[in-house]
Amino acid sequence: MTKSDLLRQLPAVHEVVKDISLEVSGKPEKEITRAVQDAIKHWRKNILSEKDDIDLKADLQELIKNSAKRSLMNPTHQIRTIINASGIVIHTNLGRSRLSNKSVMRMSETAQMYSNLEFNLEKGKRGSRHDLTEELIKRATGAEAAMVVNNNAAAVYLVLKALAKNKEVIVSRGELVEIGGSFRVSSIMEESGAYLREVGTTNKTHLFDYENAITECTAMIMKVHTSNFKIVGFTKDIPSSELLELKEKHPKIVVYEDLGSGALYPFHMHGIGGEPLVSSVIGQGIDVVSFSGDKLLGGPQAGIIAGKKEIIDQLKKHQLARVLRVDKFTIAALNETINAYLNGEHMTIPTVRDILMTADEIREKAIRLKDQIKNIPGLSLAVTEDFSQVGGGTMPDVELPTFCLRLSHEKGADYLAHHFREFQTPIIVRIKGEEVLIDLRTVTDDEIPVILEAIHSLH
Ligand SMILES: *Cc1c(COP(=O)(O)O)cnc(C)c1O
Repeated sequence: MTKSDLLRQLPAVHEVVKDISLEVSGKPEKEITRAVQDAIKHWRKNILSEKDDIDLKADLQELIKNSAKRSLMNPTHQIRTIINASGIVIHTNLGRSRLSNKSVMRMSETAQMYSNLEFNLEKGKRGSRHDLTEELIKRATGAEAAMVVNNNAAAVYLVLKALAKNKEVIVSRGELVEIGGSFRVSSIMEESGAYLREVGTTNKTHLFDYENAITECTAMIMKVHTSNFKIVGFTKDIPSSELLELKEKHPKIVVYEDLGSGALYPFHMHGIGGEPLVSSVIGQGIDVVSFSGDKLLGGPQAGIIAGKKEIIDQLKKHQLARVLRVDKFTIAALNETINAYLNGEHMTIPTVRDILMTADEIREKAIRLKDQIKNIPGLSLAVTEDFSQVGGGTMPDVELPTFCLRLSHEKGADYLAHHFREFQTPIIVRIKGEEVLIDLRTVTDDEIPVILEAIHSLH
């Protein structure tokens, strides 16, 4: 069949609409029409570009019907819940941290009711939303003052713009990295109006490099956590505690560290990574730090800024603070997340729980899953050892020992991964060579039945 034959065979919109309206009962006609129009457009484009999946013998009307039905049932362009079986705990593409039950409950209550978001209950007057987060962050980090903005990128932007616009900021060349999700310090700095003064080399930066770069134009020395990037071997970098020595001669210079993840729990005590506690960085006397709310902290998307009161007051007063402010849902979820740390209930925070989960616990889950699977022709299964990752650009060199269910299918790994992705609740797996791994570290007991169903629907 030629292209024009195929194009002629495209059905009319109303025919398909009539055909499927019984099967998708309950949907308004307007929505069905839109889905059919989209499906026809999609297949016309495929025919014109002679692309991929046009089977010349296939019934075009049938294909269009199925596309339209699928898009009505599973709205692909809307946010959907999925199961993360990749073993990457903080997966930025999959929404980073899950929230604790308490955080979710507080968010939902706050959504359904009015709140004291900007109302001082004691005085009966207008209050500040900063007050609702500041006290908790101060307690959790030991900082004099704190505030919360939309995310850590916003925090970096605000700090630079409010404290270093038209001035110079000294950064080591070893820390000028790009972090996943298009975060580049050099670009944010340019946008903020601060001037980047690079010092040192990619692998080594000494204290004298910083010292020699200081002029009357210097407003700030900035340290950036290199997150998903690690330089090994012949290296030297100066911790912020040593940079503080430079303040003796240059007291006006602000020392700022973008911590990236910002740990409130000492993972290193379990031999996991070398991430310092935020409180220990603050305890060394640094002027200001910032970190994400939804990385190691395990809370909602947010950027937390903590440090000297004089500096935080300046940031709070800046016009940008209003632009970057967080909503009441973020405040509710962040409150409960930080409360969990303060009350020793860190294991209720899913990100912390999953990072700390032991290989033995995970093996048990993997065996339990495998034991429930019936024989499926073409599929072979085994429980296997492997490594999970923390993710989110955090501790890139840390391998967390884990156990996975390993699947191999005669149709190959891509077929399997695609099957799981297309399931009603999509399941994101790890592909390793010709096999697919389901890493049980990031899968909860509630999610196991869905995985079982997906496996049993294989053919
Ligand atoms: C992740 C990260 C950011 C960006 O934080 P978001 O909360 O994603 O905006 C900034 N700096 C560092 C060092 C990071 O690791």
